[in-house]
This record gives sequence, C-alpha cells and structure tokens, in this order.
Amino acid sequence: MTEPLYFIDSSVGTFTGTVERTLDDRVVLDRTQFYPTGGGQPHDTGVITSAEATWDVTAVEKNDEIYHTLAGPDPLPEPGTNVSGELNWDRRFAHMRYHTAQHLLSAYLLETYDAETTGNQLYDDHAHLDCAHDRFTETDLADIEAGLNALVVDERDVTWYEMDREAAEQALDPDRTRINLLPASITELRIVEISGGSKSEIPFDRTACAGTHVENTAEIGTITVTKRQTQGSEHERIHFELSP
Ligand SMILES: [Zn+2]
Repeated sequence: MTEPLYFIDSSVGTFTGTVERTLDDRVVLDRTQFYPTGGGQPHDTGVITSAEATWDVTAVEKNDEIYHTLAGPDPLPEPGTNVSGELNWDRRFAHMRYHTAQHLLSAYLLETYDAETTGNQLYDDHAHLDCAHDRFTETDLADIEAGLNALVVDERDVTWYEMDREAAEQALDPDRTRINLLPASITELRIVEISGGSKSEIPFDRTACAGTHVENTAEIGTITVTKRQTQGSEHERIHFELSP
C-alpha cells in the first residue's frame, strides 16, 4: 500500500519514493505527497523525476491504490526505480486554504443556523458548499462573511490526529464529526480540529476528514462570500472566494 505522506505533514511539497507498479500511463509508488481527488478537493499536480527523465503528473486517483497518471517520455519508470516528486505548490496550498475555509463555514453554519453541510467542491480560486437551509438573506451572507473572517483574524490553530472509529463514535458529537457519512470499511479515522480560541477549551470544529489543511486559520486569508443559490427546497449553495 502507498504510504500517504500528505496525511502526516501536508506542508511538504517534495518527497522521494520507489515505483511499485506501472500500468499504461500510470504508476503506483511506495509513498507519495500527491493528494488524490476526493472529498470535494481536486488532486495535486507536479512532476516525478528519475535519474533518466521527468514526467508531469496530470491526475491522481485513489482506487485500490493511489495511481499517478504521467505525461512525458516513454517508457514510464519501471518498478523498483527510485524517483523524487515535487508538487505544484501554488495549486496545493490554494486547495489547503480553501479546504480549511470550508471547515470554518460548515461549523459556522451548523452553530449559527443549525444548517448541516450536505456537499462541497473546491478549486484553486473558488469554492462552494451546500447545506440544509431554506434561504439565506443578504444580511445572513454578510454576517457569515464577517463571522468567518473573525475566525481567520483570531489565528486559530488547526491540528489533526488518528483515532479508532469506535472510540471516535463514542467520544465525539456525531452531528459535527459526520462519521456516519464514511464507508463502514474505514476503521481508523483522521480527526481534524480547529481551536476554540484563547477563551474556549472546546474546539470550534472537530470532524473526521481526509483532506489537506493549513496549520492556522490566519493562512486562509480574507474570505469573500460571493453569492448564494437555491438548490431546491430546504437547500442552499454558498459560493466563496479567498484573497489571492
Ligand atoms: Zn478537512
């Protein structure tokens, strides 16, 4: 199995590894920092380099293994080849900022409007989030934007750790952690916490999540709520952008 290095330290954009399998235009490595598409977060891009050649990583998907689709010289590196990888860091860091902003938005909507998140999709320059709510007014949107930016300015720490699923189901609030949305096959969870700030011991957000995050909300930058859209009865979509 590929060791997902992005789970351990997502602030690193380079790594070394060994090719385990090669199939058509794809390779499997023993370890990788390339995040595969999942959870509303797009895959990383970048390059993989051997002693002989360099390939562009054009897609990364997780099925039974993490597959890196390569473009460049033929043939692709053989199993056993030592390679180094380098991410397109601007793209990955933007995804980390947008993804962490989505945590703030989900937690804020649940706390303030009792509106549960039902879906989300982010890119490197915009994102949207769907939630169970009838209709946000213009005043609501301005309040949401101000509330989120206050959490950014407050420089809240973001931390993550592994937890056994059974222990997590007993110890954590199921509404907030959204563990029930995960397939039963997942028995070890990655819990992501955003600090409650200097005045609270209770985290502002604590969810099971397999994405990549910044380590402090200050890194997100200014959040602008750009618009809302109805997604049918009792469903709203909120669009937002971050300062470049
Ligand atoms: Zn996350």
